[in-house]
Amino acid sequence: MTASARLLIVGPQGSGKGTQGVRIAESYGIPVVSTGDIFRANIKEGTPLGQQVTAILDKGDLVPDELTSEIVRDRLSQEDAAHGFLLDGYPRNTAQVGHLESFLAERGESLDAVILLDVPREESLERLTLRATEQGRSDDTPEAIGHRLDIYERETAPIIEVYGAKGIVDRIDGTGALDEVTERITAALAARGLRLAASAS
Ligand code: AMP
Repeated sequence: MTASARLLIVGPQGSGKGTQGVRIAESYGIPVVSTGDIFRANIKEGTPLGQQVTAILDKGDLVPDELTSEIVRDRLSQEDAAHGFLLDGYPRNTAQVGHLESFLAERGESLDAVILLDVPREESLERLTLRATEQGRSDDTPEAIGHRLDIYERETAPIIEVYGAKGIVDRIDGTGALDEVTERITAALAARGLRLAASAS
């Protein structure tokens, strides 16, 4: 039997949530569902979806909720997500939380935990600026970076209150060494009784 864990990782851009998400998903044997990665892959391949969202991503704006939620619904309907998944970058506002909740409820499911990576804005900015020079992402311009952090504070941070009221948020200090942060997350999930794939039987 594989481990079952339905997780969401949230944090400002530059908090390291992409990297941590991959590590955590791997140890639980579940797929990462990253809306940002899905959009970027479509842009790279020049699909109709990619053409539709290129300008939106470049500006650092949000892709419309209905479109984004439809994409996530399709992705979560694939077989590898039947026993768990780690969402990265979705839901990003309270409207999307509503879409996800009703979709999961249809399947008799709900999220097990929301990992909130806490990183001060200054540190996020520093890490994003560094990534811009290393990876050359087209949405890592100073304007788009600032805009995305503003959107995070205005639209994404409120979803923590929604999930906090359900008692499933684990606030994790996202500063320090990569391994230390991973250990903090794993410990918090273990405290919720979420087992690792290796220890599942
Ligand atoms: P990310 O890789 O999560 O930082 O996402 C990169 C970009 O993709 C964002 O700045 C948005 O333009 C778009 N995007 C990713 N996830 C979402 C979402 N849940 N809702 C709307 N737009 C999104």
